[in-house]
Amino acid sequence: MKPVDTPMDNDELIRRDLSVLWHPCTQMKDHETLPPIPVRRAAGAYLEDLDGNRYLDAVSSWWVNLFGHCNPHINAALREQLDTLEHVLLAGFTHRPVVELSERLVRIAPPGLSRCFYADNGSSAIEVAIKMSFHYWRNLGQSGKTRFLNLSNSYHGETLGALAVGDVALYKDTYRALLLEPVTVPSPDCFARAPGRSWEEHTREMFRHMEAALERHAASLCAVIIEPLVQCAGHMRMYHPVYLELLRAACDRYGVHLIADEIAVGFGRTGTMFACEQAGIRPDFLCLSKGLTGGYLPLSVVLTTDTVYEAFYDDHRSLRAFLHSHSYTGNPLGCRAALATLDLFERTPVLEDNRRRAARMARATADLADHPHVAEVRQTGMILAIEMVRDKARREPYRWQERRGLAVYRHGLRRGVLLRPLGDVVYFMPPYIVTDAEIDLMAEVAREGIDLATHDP
Ligand SMILES: *Cc1c(COP(=O)(O)O)cnc(C)c1O
Repeated sequence: MKPVDTPMDNDELIRRDLSVLWHPCTQMKDHETLPPIPVRRAAGAYLEDLDGNRYLDAVSSWWVNLFGHCNPHINAALREQLDTLEHVLLAGFTHRPVVELSERLVRIAPPGLSRCFYADNGSSAIEVAIKMSFHYWRNLGQSGKTRFLNLSNSYHGETLGALAVGDVALYKDTYRALLLEPVTVPSPDCFARAPGRSWEEHTREMFRHMEAALERHAASLCAVIIEPLVQCAGHMRMYHPVYLELLRAACDRYGVHLIADEIAVGFGRTGTMFACEQAGIRPDFLCLSKGLTGGYLPLSVVLTTDTVYEAFYDDHRSLRAFLHSHSYTGNPLGCRAALATLDLFERTPVLEDNRRRAARMARATADLADHPHVAEVRQTGMILAIEMVRDKARREPYRWQERRGLAVYRHGLRRGVLLRPLGDVVYFMPPYIVTDAEIDLMAEVAREGIDLATHDP
């Protein structure tokens, strides 16, 4: 076997890859015509393949990267951590990175979230939150609370518990026989609003479904789980913050927890550090991952309240403890990357600068609203999505078999921009170092790709 630094080209690595790997979320047969792209290195907003081609990472490598690849500050922190402590178990032991990270997360999260429980990926954080909520009610003697309420079109991850509380049919249907059954309420998704209605009107109006479901099922419900403001994996569908405000009040009224899954939207994606801030609410559980480590290492955390924590705090023989763990819980390298990421938020006015970037993204794509096959250009903060449709007036989608989004993806790669549409929705979720010129390039390439993908001879 050659050492990893021996020169190698794309073709060789692709061939070797396809003989041993099974890629995530992929029909491997697709690689017969569209091979995976071997990335040799990355810097800032760019990935570089083994043949020297560069790709602008417009989707932050699946929404994880915040401050660019191989960020000098995060790299330096990690190098130092690597020579100090790479890992230690977190049961019975602790370390400085995890303590400092917890202190800082508690300080920046919505007030009242005072306890941090770690896991090592987003789905696991969801498992933690749903188990903790269920267990809380059980510790209180309310063992009739066994169910969860979710929104249609929601996504919370791929492990069985997380998959069960999500609602993206493409990922879920196959496994339905294995899954818990949540109570599902129609999403406030504003793409579905009637012509002439505002986001806020539509969102308020949709809340009646939530209210009715809570009234009917509260006694059996542990928690409502939602993705605040943007259903990212569910085609970047968006809604107004008023929903969160109404939901917080209703959860209090009905005695049901609120789990905010900010795994994708946390750390500034929606314009505020956490999406919940836009409604001024505090969830009972806040799940964070993806951007937590700046896109460097797998780490996740669930923040919760003293009230929840205290329901587990008792003598050993009461058997109330939360006996959940993962081998890499609170890994020091991950925590250190997270601390370095938080430094970057503190050192520069990132959220303020992002307002300018977000406005630039809006301007650069404004004309796409008039495209004959674009139903909507929508945006929340640093997430901008363009929805392609067959019939604009009736908002009729293309048949999924046509894979129009894939044509945009292919075009993007040819032009050196990594756009990875969700179905027929092309979106930008760039790292927070993207320049105006790069934003304009993303928009230009998206426009060309959409023209190409929707052009029927
Ligand atoms: C990505 C994501 C998850 C799952 O996180 P993984 O680290 O991929 O397991 C859960 N919820 C939301 C909203 C996500 O976007």
